[in-house]
Amino acid sequence: MIAFSSVKKEFHGNAVLNGISFQIQPGEFVCLTGPSGAGKSTIVHLLICAEVPTSGTIEVDGADLAALPRPVLQMYRRKMGVLFQDYKLLADRTVSENIAFALEVSGVPDDIIGPRVDELLKRLRLVARRDAFPNELSGGEKTRTALARALAGRPSILIADEPTGNIDPDQSMEILELLKEVNREGATVILASHDQRVIDSLNARVLRLENGKIVRDSVGGYSGASSAVATVDVVKKPVTHAHHPHVPAHHSHASSHAHGTEHSATKKEHVAPHEHHKPHSGGKIKPIGI
Ligand code: ADP
Ligand code: MG
Repeated sequence: MIAFSSVKKEFHGNAVLNGISFQIQPGEFVCLTGPSGAGKSTIVHLLICAEVPTSGTIEVDGADLAALPRPVLQMYRRKMGVLFQDYKLLADRTVSENIAFALEVSGVPDDIIGPRVDELLKRLRLVARRDAFPNELSGGEKTRTALARALAGRPSILIADEPTGNIDPDQSMEILELLKEVNREGATVILASHDQRVIDSLNARVLRLENGKIVRDSVGGYSGASSAVATVDVVKKPVTHAHHPHVPAHHSHASSHAHGTEHSATKKEHVAPHEHHKPHSGGKIKPIGI
């Protein structure tokens, strides 16, 4: 479980996030929305420990991110797949090499990496572009490469920051379908998007940021019209925890979970798919077929 508690983040004295609290259960699909500059990417950066909160705490599976020793932090990062708003593709590596990179640094053997990269190239329609460099790619191809790289290590938490920002509606639907598929297979998905069409098409849990605060936490479309029950076709099933042999074991950094912790005050609006499920065991990578 991811838990933000009274998180404040200031840049040069300006509070971008002004004491926000929310929780995300394992296996949820959550949209983070709000106008440009609201702090969506800042939340992403806090989650991957690229930034630290000015005050407040962020816990994942009961462990305070600010207190993670370096080796544990590395393991924590490996269970996340991130599609960055600006892609962060390595300019001097091909599409294939970019996808392989995350696995290489995790110490996955070459004979596992090769087939995994091939599988992702096929799934993301990148086979013909496998030897292209990032500056030769269209916006859609860059997005698909960044998503393939994010998925390579079969993450238990997938974060996609404005993944439809530079692509047309058809390609956007393809990306969203893939995110839903990954979610149905067990991963927590956090999608940051300011795009009304994206939020409307998902009808998932929406956290809306405005002026440094969360002003909405409920299931529904962008405008807030909330369905009485969650109609999301994203995952509602319990998550299984079989260890996948393709990636190295990542032992949990947290021995305890925040059982019984109350959600934020906005909880009653939100129909969480996993409210009644116990938090999962944390460190293990789940078997995502994609
Ligand atoms: P969003 O993703 O919702 O568009 P961001 O999280 O990128 O918003 O940015 C929120 C605000 O924080 C913006 O005003 C942005 O300029 C500022 N900001 C984000 N990161 C930094 C940084 N590293 N240094 C200074 N200001 C930053
Ligand atoms: Mg952003």
